[in-house]
Amino acid sequence: MAGTWKGRLEILGKTEVLVIGSGGAALRAALSAAEQGAAVIVLTKGVFGKSGATYCSVAEIGAFNVPDGAIDPEDTPDVFYQDIMDAALGMADPRLVRILADEAIEAKEYLERGGMQFARKKDGGYMGYRACFSSRARSHVVQNHFQPIMHTLLRLAAQSRISVMEHTAAVDLIVQDGACIGAYVLRDGTVQAVLAKSVILAAGGGSTLFRRNLYPDTITGDGYAMAWRAGARMENMEFLQAGIGLAWPQPNLFGNQLWQMMPRITNGEGERFLARYAGGAASEAEIISKKGGHFPFSTRDCSKYVEIAVQSEIRQGRPTPRGNVYLDFLEADFSEMFRRNPDFKEIWQLTYDRFRELGVDLYREKIEIACFAHAINGGVRIDAQGASTVPGLYAAGEIAAGPHGADRLGGNMALTCQVFGKRAGAAAAAYARAVGESCMRTETAERERERLRGFGSVSREMCRRLLEEAQETADRTLLIVRDQAGLQQFLKESDMWLEQLRTGDSADDRVPLEELLSLESRIITGRMIAMAALRRRESRGSHFRRDYPVADPAFAAPYGFSAADARQGGE
Ligand SMILES: Cc1cc2nc3c(=O)[nH]c(=O)nc-3n(C[C@H](O)[C@H](O)[C@H](O)COP(=O)(O)OP(=O)(O)OC[C@H]3O[C@@H](n4cnc5c(N)ncnc54)[C@H](O)[C@@H]3O)c2cc1C
Repeated sequence: MAGTWKGRLEILGKTEVLVIGSGGAALRAALSAAEQGAAVIVLTKGVFGKSGATYCSVAEIGAFNVPDGAIDPEDTPDVFYQDIMDAALGMADPRLVRILADEAIEAKEYLERGGMQFARKKDGGYMGYRACFSSRARSHVVQNHFQPIMHTLLRLAAQSRISVMEHTAAVDLIVQDGACIGAYVLRDGTVQAVLAKSVILAAGGGSTLFRRNLYPDTITGDGYAMAWRAGARMENMEFLQAGIGLAWPQPNLFGNQLWQMMPRITNGEGERFLARYAGGAASEAEIISKKGGHFPFSTRDCSKYVEIAVQSEIRQGRPTPRGNVYLDFLEADFSEMFRRNPDFKEIWQLTYDRFRELGVDLYREKIEIACFAHAINGGVRIDAQGASTVPGLYAAGEIAAGPHGADRLGGNMALTCQVFGKRAGAAAAAYARAVGESCMRTETAERERERLRGFGSVSREMCRRLLEEAQETADRTLLIVRDQAGLQQFLKESDMWLEQLRTGDSADDRVPLEELLSLESRIITGRMIAMAALRRRESRGSHFRRDYPVADPAFAAPYGFSAADARQGGE
């Protein structure tokens, strides 16, 4: 199989702290480790700093939560803490939530000291709003999604002594004697090793597992798959955020603040169908006004019928010719809303301009919407220092689990990247100072060579077909509406996709190893979601089981698991 190595495994680099990824969490972690005096290598798939969800702009604004009272004077870290815990429905770690609430202000100040500008209103005050699941307005607005955060961190990184390896994908973590000592990486088609005393996994989420998603193509769940194979404990994988987005001409998030305008949703035949799916439990007006409380789907209130109805109407009902449903503001009274809420007017203008750029006029046209996969709230279980259960392995950012629960406040993910990125960087540097250098043994590398040799020769056509099948099945069985039969079907079919990646089809136009690995990572991420969702026989927050539609106190604790549990038949 192309991509494995001949003879001895080449060592591409050696460092104290290796950071995998170059998004918001990775760069904050790298800066923090470098600030502690550690030698740091950042390695990343794609272009340095421009390849992840933090940089990618599929939303006009990003929300960054800071309980500094600048937007609502009544807000405090204590109120923020309580909001996170209420949203989490028992699934977040209170210690990590306390840290997040207490260190948010410092995270914002660090970025501002680095030159970052949060959006301001015409009167000079911070622009802000009450984001999903929040009781107070505390989301500071970052214009152009989170690009200003990335520009700031990239500028700071350029002034530090961080080494960068771009267009270099981590393939697996090197685990020897139970500890993580680096990563196997794929560069220019060859697998090599980067050795480190500690490793910070900050490879982002995995939502391109779904056909309808808001993520850049680089975000394929590699981090979850690598951590899983390394034996790390995973948690809360069933809590995946998904919600309504613009489906055409280009995907874009449809923020919760827009639902205040009470848009109308219709199917391909012009019928208003939401109330039909609620079966008398709520009126259309009640459903839509609740949706203003949060962008992601949640079973906590009657807004759930928006996504359930949209997803079902597209699958079994009367979709638009492009396979979506319509949404419009044609009957909305904007002047009245702007008079009542001048702050909304400024944020609305950012959205309106963005949708104009994408080719739709929100005042005058029906737009097409559908359900899209968003961030994953679970992942590698971390402690207060960002440490995973594997010695030497840390995690930060979307990939890390613990600070979020069944529902997550909008504006908390970007913040978590900064708060726990900083902590993971400092702790990984301290760990690196404390341990001696490990010498990688031949048999360690041989295990990885055997694994990679297991891939067959897969043609471009076969790879495309498997990806399509996996994404279609994930949309159908894991996104929004789940049930036992669908989850079992995902697991069964994923066994076959993984098997086909091993057998291949021996065609001439074989795809490079990196593409096979990205596909495998997506499938493994989907398997973790399915396994966790199958076990959680209830509905809670973002996790909805059609066959168990209400919350059950028997499932009131987070569900964690590792590859070892699965091998022992725990799954
Ligand atoms: C449309 C949209 C809107 C959002 N809005 C908000 C919001 O308003 N507020 C909020 O808090 N959050 C929001 N989020 C979520 C948030 O943006 C992301 O969860 C967060 O930016 C993830 O940051 P990260 O640093 O963990 O990962 P990313 O920024 O995704 O970076 C991951 C990095 O890992 C690299 N990588 C991946 N695999 C490998 C590999 N195998 N080897 C090497 N490198 C690898 C990637 O190239 C990338 O550099 C939004 C997300 C989207 C998509």
